Amino acid sequence: MNTETVLQETDRVRILIRSWQPGDGLICAHAKRAPREMPCGKPVAVTITEDLDPCWRAGCGTRACAHRPKSRHRRIVCANHIPTLASPGEVTAGARKTATERLIVAHWDEWQKYLDEETAQAVAKRFEFADPEIQRLVMGAAEDCDA
Ligand SMILES: [Zn+2]
Repeated sequence: MNTETVLQETDRVRILIRSWQPGDGLICAHAKRAPREMPCGKPVAVTITEDLDPCWRAGCGTRACAHRPKSRHRRIVCANHIPTLASPGEVTAGARKTATERLIVAHWDEWQKYLDEETAQAVAKRFEFADPEIQRLVMGAAEDCDA
């Protein structure tokens, strides 16, 4: 059985999805603009986009009629680019943010230490060419802030 299931429906389009089967093709619809963090995997599904604009003939106004053949646009999607509400780029950005936060929390003391080191280095670099007296003042103030 390979039935089509409605994935999304608006006034203008209906998007259906069914599982991929041999003969559908191999290239994912997102292949050309897949983010590097989420390249294509093997094809798993086919989406069908149906145009639901009503018939243009005066007085007809129906979505599907003899005057207006129903348009169906077929797209192959891979395991990594199954359509969701978010685009692959948004999913990746969200995953990256969460992963970074998990890493920071797991290594909180190291994170604080690195942050302090980088801050001190940035301040030192900014006042590299300043008078030694000014340097001592600024670096001392920065260290007081940390304490
Ligand atoms: Zn893909």
